[in-house]
Amino acid sequence: MILDGKALSKKILEKIKVEVSKLSNKPHLAVILVGDDPASQVYVRNKKKTAEEIGILSTVIELPYETSEDVVINKIKELNANKEITAILVQMPLPKHINKDNVICAIDPNKDVDCFTPENVGKLAIGMEPRFNPVTPQGVLMLLDYYKVPIEGKHAVIIGRSNIVGKPMAQMLLQRNATVTICHSKTENLEEKIKAADIVISAAGKKIVRCKMVKYKATFVDVGISRDTNGKLTGDLNWIPDFNNFNEVSEYFEFVSPVPGGVGPMTIASLMLNTLASSQDMGILSIRRDSFF
Ligand code: NAP
Repeated sequence: MILDGKALSKKILEKIKVEVSKLSNKPHLAVILVGDDPASQVYVRNKKKTAEEIGILSTVIELPYETSEDVVINKIKELNANKEITAILVQMPLPKHINKDNVICAIDPNKDVDCFTPENVGKLAIGMEPRFNPVTPQGVLMLLDYYKVPIEGKHAVIIGRSNIVGKPMAQMLLQRNATVTICHSKTENLEEKIKAADIVISAAGKKIVRCKMVKYKATFVDVGISRDTNGKLTGDLNWIPDFNNFNEVSEYFEFVSPVPGGVGPMTIASLMLNTLASSQDMGILSIRRDSFF
C-alpha cells in the first residue's frame, strides 16, 4: 500500500485552516533566508504559500549571502521580542561564514517551530514533550499513524543521523516503543541491518536502497530527496532492476511512501501544525496530532 502523503497533508491542512479561522490571535511565521540558494528559495516560497492558503500569517526576511552572523542573530532577537511573531524558522543551510549553532541557540524555544534549539532537542531526548516536535519526523509519524502501521515493538532502521531527520526520528520512535537502529555512512554491513527491519526510514539523500535489500512486506518510508540524471525528483529507494513500476514496488512492501508525494508534503503540513500550536490562543501542548486526520 502506498503511504500517500499528498492526500493526507491536504486533509490535515484543511483542518488546520478551520482551526486558524477560529483564532483571534492568528499564528505568524517568520522565515529567515540568508543567501540565494535556489532550492532554499523554493522551500521558503512553498512554506509561505501554504501558510497563506490556510490563514497563517507569514513574513519572509531575505538577507544577502554576505550578511554577518551578528546581523542574523540580531534579527532573530528582534523577532523573539516581537509579540506579533509566534514562530521563527531559519532556512538551512546557512552560508559557510555563519555558525549555524550560534544562530539556532539565539531562537526563543517558544517560537522554535522546527525544534532545533538545545532546549527543545534536549526535552525530546529525555522523553519530555518539547514545545514543538521536529517537523519531518512528526510528519513521518503522522503518515505511519494514519495508515495504522504498527510501531510498538517493531524494529525500525533509520538511515541517516542528521539533527533534522535521523536523530529526532530515532527519539520519537523510541518514545513509541520501537527498537531503533541508526545507520550512517560508516555503518558496516548496511544491507544486513536493513534486511532485519520491520520499518526502514531512509534519509540519506542518495539512491542507496534497492527494494530487495528490504524484507518482503516491511514498511519503507523514503525521506530522501535528490534528482536523477534527467533532473527528476527521486528518493533513496532504487527499484530498478527489481521491479518495472511503482505499483509492483507497492505490492512488495506492506507500506511504501513515494517521492514526490510522500514525506515532502507531510513535512509542510507538520510545520503548519506547529505554527498553529504557536498561536497564543492555543496554549502550550494543546495540540493532539491525531485529531488532525
Ligand atoms: P544530511 O545531513 O546530509 O544527512 C544524510 C545522512 O545520510 C548522514 O547521516 C549520512 O551519514 C547518511 N548517509 C549518506 N550516505 C550514506 C550511505 N551510503 N549509507 C548510509 N548512510 C549514508 O541530510 P538530511 O538533512 O538528514 O536529509 C537527508 C535527505 O532527506 C536529503 O535528501 C534531504 O533533502 C531529505 N529531506 C527531506 C525532507 C522531506 O520533507 N522530504 C526533509 C528533510 C530532509 P554520515 O552522518 O556518516 O555522513
